[in-house]
Amino acid sequence: MAFYTHNLTGESISYELVISSRRKKSIALEIKADWLRIMVPESVSDYHIEKIIQKKWSWIIKKLAQLENLKVLSFNKNISRQQAAQILHDRTLQLGKVTQLSLEKVIIKQYRRKYWQCKWSTVYLDWRIVFFPQEITDHIIYHELAHLRYKHHQKTFWEFLTQLDPATPKHKKWLREYGASIHTIS
Ligand SMILES: [Zn+2]
Repeated sequence: MAFYTHNLTGESISYELVISSRRKKSIALEIKADWLRIMVPESVSDYHIEKIIQKKWSWIIKKLAQLENLKVLSFNKNISRQQAAQILHDRTLQLGKVTQLSLEKVIIKQYRRKYWQCKWSTVYLDWRIVFFPQEITDHIIYHELAHLRYKHHQKTFWEFLTQLDPATPKHKKWLREYGASIHTIS
């Protein structure tokens, strides 16, 4: 991994540059846990990379600032792992009752690369999802609850999940963008 720094208008960001032989032309920007990753084809010039960063600068700064807010927010919550486990456990049982699905077990743990696990019968959650905005935490719980009925990720599953959480598309998008920030909390 190669890390670089870019400065503009008094602000600086560090980014990881990934050169991929599989990419043909396009350059992709991706916000990781709390840094920026730029994926480029082999043929791209440094000049071109600079141009892209400049063009996307306000977007990058905004995204990174949002992540920073999330982190500050989470640390302000000041919840221990044990408290988090209790909160999530109670919330899962509560939402489980509303959905009338028979839930037997909730297991709270800490994952290295994800934040919940679809295991079809038991609900596995990473304790740190308690730091997400409430609607996101609920969405993850609903996702797991929906698996009590549908043990797959096919269309019927997503339809059912959308019944439980009508904002599913928005919440999925949020998780794609910010979900990984959870791994900066330990
Ligand atoms: Zn799932």
